[in-house]
Amino acid sequence: MNNKKLNKKFSHNNKWRYLIYYAILAAMIIFIINEYMNGLKSQHIKYSDFVKAINQNKVSEVQISKDKLIIIPKVKNDANKGKVLYTERIDDPDLVKKLDSAKVKYGGIPQENSAIKGFFVNWVLPFIIIAFLLQLFLGKLNKKMGSGVMSFGKNTAKIYAESETGVNFKDVAGQEEAKESLVEIVDFLHNSQRYVEIGARLPKGALLVGPPGTGKTLLAKAVAGEAKVPFFSISGSAFVEMFVGMGAARVRDLFQQAQEKAPCIVFIDEIDAIGKSRDGNVSGNDEREQTLNQLLAEMDGFDSSKGVVILAATNRPEVLDKALLRPGRFDRRVIVDRPDLKGREDILKVHIRGVKVSPDVDLNSIAKATPGAVGADLANIINEAALRAVKNHRFQVNQGDLEEAVEVIIAGKEKKDRILSPEEKQQVAFHEVGHALVAALLKHTDPVHKITIVPRTMGSLGYTMQLPEEEKYLNTKAEMLDQICVMLGGRSAEEVKFNSISTGAANDIERATQAARRMVTIYGMTDRFDMMGLESMQNRYLDGRPAQNCSAETASIIDEETLKIIRMCHKKARALLKDNIELLIIISKRLIEKETLMGDEFMGIIKEYKEKKKEESSKGNLISD
Ligand code: ADP
Ligand code: MG
Ligand code: ZN
Repeated sequence: MNNKKLNKKFSHNNKWRYLIYYAILAAMIIFIINEYMNGLKSQHIKYSDFVKAINQNKVSEVQISKDKLIIIPKVKNDANKGKVLYTERIDDPDLVKKLDSAKVKYGGIPQENSAIKGFFVNWVLPFIIIAFLLQLFLGKLNKKMGSGVMSFGKNTAKIYAESETGVNFKDVAGQEEAKESLVEIVDFLHNSQRYVEIGARLPKGALLVGPPGTGKTLLAKAVAGEAKVPFFSISGSAFVEMFVGMGAARVRDLFQQAQEKAPCIVFIDEIDAIGKSRDGNVSGNDEREQTLNQLLAEMDGFDSSKGVVILAATNRPEVLDKALLRPGRFDRRVIVDRPDLKGREDILKVHIRGVKVSPDVDLNSIAKATPGAVGADLANIINEAALRAVKNHRFQVNQGDLEEAVEVIIAGKEKKDRILSPEEKQQVAFHEVGHALVAALLKHTDPVHKITIVPRTMGSLGYTMQLPEEEKYLNTKAEMLDQICVMLGGRSAEEVKFNSISTGAANDIERATQAARRMVTIYGMTDRFDMMGLESMQNRYLDGRPAQNCSAETASIIDEETLKIIRMCHKKARALLKDNIELLIIISKRLIEKETLMGDEFMGIIKEYKEKKKEESSKGNLISD
């Protein structure tokens, strides 16, 4: 918007014209100042007054120059305020006589020979000073406009400013949930006035969290593009390389610039580089800490009603300093996860837009072949395929090119990014459906919200998410047992279906054991120990682990009791799944197809299955009748 106008004004072509304007302006200012200063220092009097002053013995010295007489009075009274008086030198042959008789000293002007110096002091020096100030001002301006606009400020910050990112939400595919939560920010940037008028407190910042290459940077730019506001970005790692004190200064600079350009977006990429937790690291990195503190201070200090929104991205949210996540800072989190099947297909569609393709191309099958791939991988695959087509002297990309590219990109990544093989995918699918199905079949459990086998960087290969219907502060024993059954449902499904088990249950096992143990030691839920407290949570804040306060023998009985609970729950989960193995298979197949099932879809499948069963059995009854 007005940013663009400024860009134009200071574009390279007009640079010299503006310099000349400034030079003329400076010359005029200096002239006026010189005149004014002279006026302050000296005052003109009439020759007759001069003669009178001599006669009254008021003159101490007279300096005679070519065209004027400079008179230094004896008494510095109020009238002349210590000013030097001067008068014209007129033809007065008696002047010397008059001066002699009044005993006035006289001579030439002592500094008259230093006209060059005077010129220097009065003209050149101010000019240099003004030029220097101008340079400073323009340097700042230059930084504000981003690099490359007017590059005579040295060492401009590594802050990238774009007046228009040219990226829109439609360029970001497969991140519908993330986009949904960012729409609000776009709207806010668009009509910040409306929010201010109604008195709403505006969001200050959002943290984009997700594995590398999923489109976090892209999304941030898209928010700026959608809202049509300037985009300032800086990378967290750029701060770390800097000299001491520079990081904090740059943060200050960034926010200052942003506020002048509001509404706008400030994007801090890789914020974990500066935002790492401050405590628990003894060596300490002063520079980073200073930078982080400055960032926190700026975030608290600035006025969000102006329409500055801060976005930050990280793929390691767990290392971030808690202070960053407090309300009023990055209080919103937007998860930018690996795309599922449909998402991958959409991303492929986005990237194939500019590429000529033959009619045989089937992006759906490419999406199917790339579970776990992120947006950056898919963009790479399209590009690789196009390169291959050129290499083979074709004018269109065909399916073979794409398939080959999948091999190159995926094999090139050596599975280190957890791209699942079909067998693994199946195992993971049954495991997750195991959790979900046990949850659905038991009474005291939370409803299933989402099942997915899209691998996560932050944790397991898939997950089942349950959301309680209402906030809960108390759990009954029955609920705790059912929850443990759900946790063990994943492994149980693997057993029931494949008769082989995998390492995928490690986290489930840990959580289930912990829960069972607490039932024994803290919640008094076993007959064996009745209401005896065996662990205390006193030192929870020291190392987070409850302390056992019992004898060694009791400790081993605790283990036994814990194992008993686990055994019981495991058996129950396995039995449930065995009884419902048809349902397990149906749902797992659907999950493998779609990669993500939402809760209502999942319940729909179960309901449909049960109705079918009912029909069948009533038909069966009819026949047997
Ligand atoms: P991140 O910042 O999460 O590491 P980037 O935003 O830098 O990932 O993504 C790198 C590139 O991958 C993008 O420039 C874009 O070409 C492609 N890409 C990633 N995610 C998507 C997506 N969801 N839709 C379209 N393209 C994507
Ligand atoms: Mg990025
Ligand atoms: Zn599991």
